[in-house]
Amino acid sequence: SCVVSGRGVVKDYPMGGISVRALDGVDFDIHAGEFVSIMGPSGSGKSTLMHIIGCLDVPTSGLIEIDGIDVSGYSETELAKIRNKKIGFVFQQFFLLPRLNLIENVEVPLLYAGIDYQKRRQKAVEMLNAVGLGDRLYHKPGELSGGQRQRAAIARALVNDPEIILADEPTGALDSVTGEKILELFKGINKKGKTIIVVTHDNEVASYADRTIRLRDGKIVESAL
Ligand code: ADP
Ligand code: ADP
Repeated sequence: SCVVSGRGVVKDYPMGGISVRALDGVDFDIHAGEFVSIMGPSGSGKSTLMHIIGCLDVPTSGLIEIDGIDVSGYSETELAKIRNKKIGFVFQQFFLLPRLNLIENVEVPLLYAGIDYQKRRQKAVEMLNAVGLGDRLYHKPGELSGGQRQRAAIARALVNDPEIILADEPTGALDSVTGEKILELFKGINKKGKTIIVVTHDNEVASYADRTIRLRDGKIVESAL
């Protein structure tokens, strides 16, 4: 089944009196359990597509469905709800909260979901164990290596059991050996059935994916297996 599909997706950004067409009518389907990379040169529309798939923004026109739900006309509040339920985000710069320890960082999405304290702790510890940080539970992000920080961010992305993991240049701030370990972690998570979408300009990163959706000037120029 389809976790994300787009039909005729157009995104225009207003720029003074004119507008810039960042996505020019793209069609795509991403199936449950796929590991997909989104690639393309700078300015080709990768971030725009990622924001639309991640329910951070809606298209100017066209259709976008997440898990069978048409979110094309959703308000910011409705988008936030879908986002929190269906999507786990991983960013190049980790975005962990520096004053909180790892358990507290990983608990954040569960706080928003209104889960009680005991359950939050239990789930956060379970996720940190799963990414190999079981011995760093009470450390703060500043006391960890880059790879460990990204593992913690991945634990946070997974803690709500989202449908989709959406990663934006997840190894961009890491050395190549650490980056490969993070990609192996994604691969393992994918093998357990999670859909992974990674936005990257790095061929090495894309080589871990099953297929690439390649953008150029706001159009998809490749999306086959
Ligand atoms: P990529 O991530 O591949 O570099 P983007 O999606 O960031 O591409 O950008 C696609 C196009 O849309 C570019 O021409 C870019 O300048 C333009 N663009 C992106 N965001 C905005 C914005 N907020 N306002 C105006 N133009 C934008
Ligand atoms: P870029 O790809 O342009 O570097 P970032 O990766 O920094 O952009 O983040 C993309 C956007 O997503 C930012 O505007 C950021 O504020 C927003 N963002 C990051 N995390 C979340 C989240 N969990 N929920 C909602 N918005 C988020």
